[in-house]
Amino acid sequence: MNERYSRQELFSPIGIDGQAKIRTKSVLIVGAGALGAGSAEALTRAGVKRIVLVDRDYVDWTNLQRQQLYSEEDAKRQLPKVVAAKNRLNQINSEVEIQAHVMDMGIEEAEELISGIDLIMDATDNFETRLLINDLAQKYEIPWIYGACVGSYGISYTILPGDGPCLNCLLDKIPANGQTCDTAGIISPAVQMVTAYQTAEALKILVEDYASIRKKIVTFDTWTNQHVQLGMGKAKKVDCPSCGANPTYPYLEKGAALKTAVLCGRDTVQIRPAHTIEIDLGEMEKRLLPHGEVRCNPYLLELQSGSHRLVLFKDGRALVHGTKNTTEAKSLYHRFIG
Ligand SMILES: [Zn+2]
Repeated sequence: MNERYSRQELFSPIGIDGQAKIRTKSVLIVGAGALGAGSAEALTRAGVKRIVLVDRDYVDWTNLQRQQLYSEEDAKRQLPKVVAAKNRLNQINSEVEIQAHVMDMGIEEAEELISGIDLIMDATDNFETRLLINDLAQKYEIPWIYGACVGSYGISYTILPGDGPCLNCLLDKIPANGQTCDTAGIISPAVQMVTAYQTAEALKILVEDYASIRKKIVTFDTWTNQHVQLGMGKAKKVDCPSCGANPTYPYLEKGAALKTAVLCGRDTVQIRPAHTIEIDLGEMEKRLLPHGEVRCNPYLLELQSGSHRLVLFKDGRALVHGTKNTTEAKSLYHRFIG
């Protein structure tokens, strides 16, 4: 028995055989915010073979209250979340291969990242990306685990391709009140609870104990003490374009991805160029110096210009803070970046 994983191996539904399976599995975690950090830590400690982490943001002081992998130093240095996460995960378990991708996962990137992946963990903050994950999971027959939280509320659901309804079947049944953690706040127990539900399901999938998978959507509120499980068996749509008899995978069609997106209810617009470009941040720093205060690290550049703060990544993507107006954000991008 491997001492490191002995307590997990003593748990009979996993056992030595289950642990051996876990050691061969690769997991894609989309998003490295609170849920992504929680899942990544749990699965790294559990001893999976490989974790592929994707996130488009950098560590901010407002993240530290609940995003368990990050430190004040990460926020001071404005490290991309996946870079800070990889540093910490390597300290936790050096046996696990961590691949970190600073990017906004679009269709093309997703189809590359999915290679060799056994399970996808949803740790995103938006339905566009979840529906992309859903189509990807159906097309490549990979299980995925939906999870979301806001305030003291959380929700999770496990989707096995070819078995039960998919996210697209359930869209009109999932409560979406438009609240986000930036408008309604969030407390860490809500995060920990969703992470616990998601990673328990993940372990079942990784040891291939499909009979134990929870078939129901679970929702809870840790403040008002509600806990509900909803059966979804009848929700499967025969003509669903994602999981039905003749799937077209609408969210994998090129052009479906948005080029601008207002981020998670914040005063922030993300701009994504139509094609990935390589930006020399050092050159760009020199060019932008006359326009305002510029800070740069190896991963991103920050320009403070009037009431706007523009953060540019090496792949040409930018976050424009201080506006919700996509037209205004685009015009700032063109003015400063090109
Ligand atoms: Zn479906």
